[in-house]
Amino acid sequence: MNNNKNETIVCKRCVMDTTAKNISFDATGICNYCTNYFKEQHKVLKNEELLKPIIAKIKEEGKNKKYDCVIGVSGGVDSTYVAYYVKQLGLNPLAIHLDNGWDSELAVANIEKTLKKLDIDLYTHVINWNEFKDLQLSFLKASIPGMEIPSDHAIFAILNKVALKYGVRYIINGSNFRMEYIMDPDWSEFIGQMDWLLIKNVHKQFGKVALKTFPRMTRKDVYYTRFVKKHTVINILDYIDFSKEKAMKIIQDKLGWVYYGGKHYESIYTRFTQAYIQPLKFSIDKRKAHYSNVICMGEMTREEALSALKKDAYPNEEMKMDDLEYFKKKMNFSDSEFEKIMNAPVKSYKDYKGYFNHPIYSKLQEKALKIHFKLKGKGFYGK
Ligand SMILES: [Zn+2]
Repeated sequence: MNNNKNETIVCKRCVMDTTAKNISFDATGICNYCTNYFKEQHKVLKNEELLKPIIAKIKEEGKNKKYDCVIGVSGGVDSTYVAYYVKQLGLNPLAIHLDNGWDSELAVANIEKTLKKLDIDLYTHVINWNEFKDLQLSFLKASIPGMEIPSDHAIFAILNKVALKYGVRYIINGSNFRMEYIMDPDWSEFIGQMDWLLIKNVHKQFGKVALKTFPRMTRKDVYYTRFVKKHTVINILDYIDFSKEKAMKIIQDKLGWVYYGGKHYESIYTRFTQAYIQPLKFSIDKRKAHYSNVICMGEMTREEALSALKKDAYPNEEMKMDDLEYFKKKMNFSDSEFEKIMNAPVKSYKDYKGYFNHPIYSKLQEKALKIHFKLKGKGFYGK
C-alpha cells in the first residue's frame, strides 16, 4: 500500500516520475528533465548543410586508406540507420561489432543481412567469454543498476582500437540528442562506461578470473586516442531530422531489417536486465525516459506513454520466461543464487571507487563530462 510519502509522482508533461532520484518539479508539476530538453533542444544542429564539410574532410583524409571511418553496429535501429546513412553520403566505413555472447539470433541476422546489402565490411570482436562472464557476474554482485557498464566500455575500447589499427580517426555513432537526452544519471551507464578504474575495482572485489584480454581504455589510452591520434566522434543523427519511425521503415523496406520488440532489445542480456532485473530489483523502468523523449519530440502523447507503461516491459510472457531460464543457465546461477542477487541491498556506482571519485582523476573526469554534456546535441566532439 502506498501512503502519501511513498506515492510515485509523475510529471504532468512527460512520464518521468519520482522513481528517478534526480527529478524535481516546478509549481505546475512539470519536471526538470523535459524542461531541460526544451531548453537545450535548439542546440541540436538538425542541419545537413553543416555535415557537408565534415564529410568532405573524412573523404579527403581517407583517400588512400582502406576505410575512412568506423561505425559501431549492434543490429538495432539507430546503428543500422547510421550504416545506411553513411553509405548514402558516399563514405567508406568499417562496421565494428562486439560479440559479447548475448546477441539474439535476430540481431546477428540483422547485422549480416543489412551490411551485405550495403556492401560494408564487418569486423567482429568476439570477447573472451570466461573473463567477460566473470566481469558481468561481478557487476551483478556489486548490486548497481549499471549492469551494462562492462559491455559499453568494451565497445568504446574496441571502436578506438580498431580505428587505430586502420589509421582512421573518425568514429561515427548513432547516439542522438532527441531520443536520448532525457535519462536519470543514476539509471544510465554513461559515467561508468568511460571509467576503467571503476570496472577494475568492482572486479577486484567480486571477480575470480584474471582480466587479461578484456578490451579496456585506461586514462592513458583515452588521452592518446583523443589528443595524440585526434580521434573524433561524430553523432551523425544529430545533423538530420531523425525520426525512429521513419528510420525503421527505411531499414525494413530497403535492407530487410527485422524488428525485435524494444529499445536495445537486440541483446538478450540488455533486455533481461532492462525489462526484468532493473524494474524488479531497482524500481527502474528505462522506458519512462525513452517515452519521455518521444513525447518531447511530438511523436507520442503522454496518455499513449502512460498506457504503454502499464504493460510489462517484455513484449510477451513467453519471451520473459525463456530469457529468465537462458540467463540463469548462461550465468550458471542456481535458483537460490539468482534470488540472492535479486534480493541483495541496492547500491550505486558511487559506493565504489573509480576515476569519478579519485583524488586526481575526478577533476579531469568532471571536466570531460562537462564538455561531453555541453557538446551533447552538437553532433561533434574531438578535434
Ligand atoms: Zn517532465
